Amino acid sequence: MSKTFLAAGECMVEMAPTGQGTFSMGFAGDTLNTAWYARKCLPSDWNVGYCTAVGRDQVSEQMLDFLTQSGIDVGPVRRLDDRTVGLYMIQLKNGERSFAYWRSQAAARQLAADIDHLQTAVADAALIYFSGITLAILPERDRDTFFSALKAARARGAKTAFDPNLRPRLWETEDTMRACVTEAAGLCDFVMPSFEDELAHFGDPTADASAGRYLAAGADMVVVKNGPEEVICASRENREAFQPKPVANIVDTTAAGDSFNAAFLAEYLVSGNIATSVDAGARLAGTVIQNRGALVDCFEPA
Ligand code: AMP
Repeated sequence: MSKTFLAAGECMVEMAPTGQGTFSMGFAGDTLNTAWYARKCLPSDWNVGYCTAVGRDQVSEQMLDFLTQSGIDVGPVRRLDDRTVGLYMIQLKNGERSFAYWRSQAAARQLAADIDHLQTAVADAALIYFSGITLAILPERDRDTFFSALKAARARGAKTAFDPNLRPRLWETEDTMRACVTEAAGLCDFVMPSFEDELAHFGDPTADASAGRYLAAGADMVVVKNGPEEVICASRENREAFQPKPVANIVDTTAAGDSFNAAFLAEYLVSGNIATSVDAGARLAGTVIQNRGALVDCFEPA
C-alpha cells in the first residue's frame, strides 16, 4: 500500500460574478476542496489523487491542469469522449448569494461506471475519502460498484473516510439519501458529519446522537463537527469532546468542514493521534472561515 490519499467525487466549474455580466472561472467541489487541503497538509512523500470523470474538451483539460498545478495526481481521473464537466454560477442579489447548477449530465456521474477503472484507481491508496455528494451523483447501480470497491480496499488494509454532506436536492428522495448514507457509514473507518446537516435531515437531537447512530450503522469512529461547538470523536469503546478555539472574525464558512476533514485526516495518517488531529482540523477550518472562498492559501511555502 502506498502513501496515497485518494479523494473521489465531483469537481465543478465555478463562475463567480466580477461585475456587470462578467464572471471569473474557477474550480470547486466538496471532495476537491478536501483533496486540495490534504495536499497542503500532508508531507511531500504522500501522494494526493483525485478520482472523478471529465470529458476531453478544453474546459475538462483546464480542470485537469488546475488539479495538476495544485499538486493533485490526476492519474485516477476517467476521461469520457461524449461528456463534459458540471458547472455552477454564483448569483448575487442584494448581497445574498445563490447558486444555479448545470450538472445533471456531468461526466463525474460516470466515475464509478467502469469497475476495472475504479478498482485500479483505489488499488494502492492508504486512505479513500468520499462524501454524500459523491454518492448522490452516481446512478443507483454504480453506488453498489463504489461500495464493493471500498470493501475490497478495506480488506487489503486501506482506511475509508466519509463526510455525509447531506444535500437532499441531489438525491432521488430523502429516504434514499438516508439509507445510502447509512450504508456507506457502515463501510468506513471515519464518518465525519456536520451536526447541522444531521439535525436537519436525520432529526438527531444532539451531536452525540449523530455519533451513536453512525456507530450503530457500523462506523469505526465518528467525528461530529458542530460549528463553534465541541467536536465529538466517538468509537464503540471511547468518547472524547474537543472545544475548537473561538474565531472572532468569520468572513465566509464555505469549506469549513472540507478543510477540517483534510487537516484531521492528514494529521491522523501521520501521527495516529486523535487529539492532535482534531486540533489540526479545527485550526485549519478556523483560518479558512476568516477568509473568502473555498480554497484559502494560508500555508507556508514548502
Ligand atoms: P461545521 O462543518 O460548520 O460544523 O464546521 C467545521 C469546523 O469548522 C468546526 O468543527 C470548527 O472546527 C470550525 N468552525 C466552524 N464554525 C466555527 C465557528 N463559528 N467558530 C469556530 N470554529 C468554527
